[in-house]
Amino acid sequence: MSSDFKSSEPASTDEEHAADPRYVVALDVGGTSMKGGLVTRCGEVTSLEGRPTGRDSGPETVVTAVRGYVDELVELGVTRYGAPPAGVGLAVPGIVTASTAVYSANIGWHDVPATAFVPPGIPARLGHDVRTGGLAESVLGAGRGVTDFLFLAIGTGIAGAVVIGGEPYGGADGCGGEIGHAPVWPAGEKCACGQIGCLETYASASALVRRYEARSPSRTAATAKDVVSLAVAGDPVAGEVFGEAVEALAISLASYVMVLDPAAIVIGGGLAEAGETLLDPLGERLSARLTFRQRPPLLVAALGMRTGMLGAALLGWQAAGVPDAGRDWSLDVLRRGAVS
Ligand SMILES: [Zn+2]
Repeated sequence: MSSDFKSSEPASTDEEHAADPRYVVALDVGGTSMKGGLVTRCGEVTSLEGRPTGRDSGPETVVTAVRGYVDELVELGVTRYGAPPAGVGLAVPGIVTASTAVYSANIGWHDVPATAFVPPGIPARLGHDVRTGGLAESVLGAGRGVTDFLFLAIGTGIAGAVVIGGEPYGGADGCGGEIGHAPVWPAGEKCACGQIGCLETYASASALVRRYEARSPSRTAATAKDVVSLAVAGDPVAGEVFGEAVEALAISLASYVMVLDPAAIVIGGGLAEAGETLLDPLGERLSARLTFRQRPPLLVAALGMRTGMLGAALLGWQAAGVPDAGRDWSLDVLRRGAVS
């Protein structure tokens, strides 16, 4: 779907916004590191080098580190554009509302207001990391033009952004989309979350490595990519582990398809780099599990490592009162973005 970008790009986009000096500060806060940048009204991206969150020194250190990084980005923006940002958007892990980072097991913070992260007077908006990624894929990536889809991020863990009517859906308490902890095998392995048989236990990138190494003690596979390569090369243990991961994903996605009837499933995170090696067998197994309906297309996420930061930029524009920002940006603009 990413090929649709050029054809749907209004020719006048750059000219329309060229004279608009406004920009937002965007920050993707992960567990151990964060990535930030400036994004203008026409989608020009200036990325800044990532920074550590300082998680090991406690949640207050993380808040201070985020605030320091935001200050740095604001300073860069003032130098570059001659004015403070129109808004700040932050993608953060855990339970999140637009104005409060409610809780993160990963970072350890409780009820941190958005105002703690930004200089006074600049509007800010927070978003859940994976749902923010889903927003970015919806507006700018593989989900552009698709109103109902699942964005499934397969990395260290597995999380989903349920996009309904073009908006990521958080549920009653902001906990929606945790498909990684929905059980696939009730009598299966124990998950780190305490439940039994969670999807994440079988199909996350770290699960592939852990399960391969457990069955093949003489060999160590450094990464999930290695396990996938070994499976493709015919290593029987790697093939078994990869096959079980694909089967677990097919079971989960079959349930999702039956409940929500998505128009597409967009797969991101580190494991999506396996491309067709993952998507082809997954598509086959998903089709095999659906007898009376077609499966939706499986697509690879288009924005890669920048998904969270670009989604945070869209949140920043929402905070600034421009809710439709990004819908007229071209993928070309996003790709040529990294200026510094
Ligand atoms: Zn779990």
